[in-house]
Amino acid sequence: MSQVRVRFAPSPTGSFHLGSARTALFNWLYARHTGGTFVLRVEDTDKERNTPEALDVLLRGMRWLGLDWDEGPEVGGDYGPYFQSERRAIYDEYLQKLWAADRVYEKDGAVFFRLEGERYTEYDEYKKAEIEKVRAKPQVIDDAVRGVVERAEERDFVIVRSNGEPVFHLVNVVDDIAMGITHVIRGEDHLSNTTKHCELFQAFGAPLPKFAHIPMILSSTGPGKMSKRGDGVHVEDYERRHFLPYGLVNFLALLGWNAKDDQELFTLAELIERFDLPGIQKGNARFDEKKLSHVNTEQIRRLPLGEFAALAQPILEAAGVAIDDVNYMNAVLKLSQEKVRSLEELPGFVAYFFDDNFNFDEKAGERIFKKGEPLDRLAEVKEILSAVVDWSAEMLDRTFMDLASAKGHEKPFAWFPITRFAVSGVSGGPDLIPMLAMMGKERVLSRMEAFPSRYTV
Ligand code: GLU
Repeated sequence: MSQVRVRFAPSPTGSFHLGSARTALFNWLYARHTGGTFVLRVEDTDKERNTPEALDVLLRGMRWLGLDWDEGPEVGGDYGPYFQSERRAIYDEYLQKLWAADRVYEKDGAVFFRLEGERYTEYDEYKKAEIEKVRAKPQVIDDAVRGVVERAEERDFVIVRSNGEPVFHLVNVVDDIAMGITHVIRGEDHLSNTTKHCELFQAFGAPLPKFAHIPMILSSTGPGKMSKRGDGVHVEDYERRHFLPYGLVNFLALLGWNAKDDQELFTLAELIERFDLPGIQKGNARFDEKKLSHVNTEQIRRLPLGEFAALAQPILEAAGVAIDDVNYMNAVLKLSQEKVRSLEELPGFVAYFFDDNFNFDEKAGERIFKKGEPLDRLAEVKEILSAVVDWSAEMLDRTFMDLASAKGHEKPFAWFPITRFAVSGVSGGPDLIPMLAMMGKERVLSRMEAFPSRYTV
């Protein structure tokens, strides 16, 4: 096991934002890539939002995405507790060190961290207040993504509020020290906090972790940041819509990271192998829903049939699709897997396979009945198909070819649209011949038989 220790440090809010999930994923991938340790630390200091339900949404989302943690809630570890709400004694202990080193002082009930540097007093005309200022030595942050960032803190800052609550900067740094965190991978919005954090690390005599501030995610439409609320910005939305968890993972990996070539679809093993900090881009990422659904579709197509079926069956059952025969269902899924765009669309996509009372798509029907004599064609097909004994794709193929040549055509395509429409009610779907073979002679012929009375032009 390597020395790398990274952490995902969310503050549960009751929903799991995709931006947050992306931060979790980058940390997880880096831990898995380096053989390090992935810690989940819950920054639950906001008492109002700190509910069991909010935590549950987060943990469920992490598990659904497959981001398992080596230390943290429910799994424990040597550096616990992993909830900030349970670490008060540790913060007090660290605070004592700062008192002992004369790096803190009290003012108006709050505890301030004292910067080391040149002090001077400034008179602010507007506020009519005297402000003591400090020019601390600039901090040089060698960020793995942003490069060298140099910034000086300009003023002593509060680390314990007047109500006695320790401030984010203090607890965040104390935990990173106490938990032996080696790499801090987090959103770029925290870059501005990092000088304060460096000051604190140094005041505690702790080595700085390596920082990697990952780029913001812009909204798919406008110039601004991706929205915080609304449909489609939370992990739960995608779970509800039956996205493939790994489809979302593959997509999130591309939000601010790339493999330096054009590859966008990865197996999980490839992603772990190729993910590294230098591949994280500086420029903002853009949330692109079309890309998300494309990646999801492609990852569905790559699933082994057994996994696809295991995911599909409960979704079909929940949608009221009557599955009497698992072999038949598997055959339907095998044909549909490469055609369907999402698991969400699957029940609608395959419903007609399981129900003889399927609906007819009006537009498709109108198109088919606009030209030729579709009912005559259907009767021709029905006649030759009823004579087929060996009901296989090969034999059906040959039968259609024979029909075509008997009528002076080179190919049987003229008979296909009405045949498909009569047995499925739609104009698209899996390739026709394998589909007829899979449906079986009885079902195909009885649907053709029923068609003229079920469908009225
Ligand atoms: N709780 C902070 C957040 O959710 C963690 C920041 C960090 O990763 O250091 O933004």
